[in-house]
Amino acid sequence: MKKVLVIEDEGRIVRLIRDYLEKEDYKVIDARDGEEGLVAFERQEPALIILDLMLPKKDGLEVAKEIRKESQVPIIMLTAKTEEADRVTGLEIGADDYVTKPFSLRELAARIKAVLRRSEGDLGQQDRIERGELSINPETHQVKLEGEVVDLTPTEFDLLLALARRPGRAFTRKNLLEEIGHYPGENVKRKIDTHVKNLRKKLSTPDERPRFIETVHGVGYRFRKDEGNS
Ligand code: CA
Repeated sequence: MKKVLVIEDEGRIVRLIRDYLEKEDYKVIDARDGEEGLVAFERQEPALIILDLMLPKKDGLEVAKEIRKESQVPIIMLTAKTEEADRVTGLEIGADDYVTKPFSLRELAARIKAVLRRSEGDLGQQDRIERGELSINPETHQVKLEGEVVDLTPTEFDLLLALARRPGRAFTRKNLLEEIGHYPGENVKRKIDTHVKNLRKKLSTPDERPRFIETVHGVGYRFRKDEGNS
């Protein structure tokens, strides 16, 4: 049974999520403030974390930042409609997705499933992709750049894989969202742009020259076709 850690101070929301996810065969652990959440994360090693933004003691952004220092566990943030800036910051820190309150439990469950499926690399038998100095292994979910492992979140990994599979093809942001199995929600542009920005940062050269992923103006993004020869 997959363990989901819910870090949320509103008991009503925790109960709703728990009741729903238990029926879907997840084991739910909860923590009611940021500090308790970090302790539960260390002890329980959950498969996924649902993280509220506004929390006592330590807010969701701080909690996400600390978790990301040591783990790429999938994180879905819960945010209020008014917390736009924080949502973006959350994605920048490395949250995989966010859900805006009030949310439907079905939507939350769909996102949990999508994120878990991706983090487990449940993509079947697939060959490794080599593009110049970049190597992507769909089976182990490992990415190496010039022989060094690059730590990517499940979302970043799937985005890179989708782009790198078809060098030269221009993807719209909506295409990319579909490719990575995300629930089509609000603010597609912002979400994809933030994940791409994180990815580029992780794949950049020491002088921060962007590599691999090109912007296609008025369309979206593509993987550079000449990258393999560079
Ligand atoms: Ca809260």
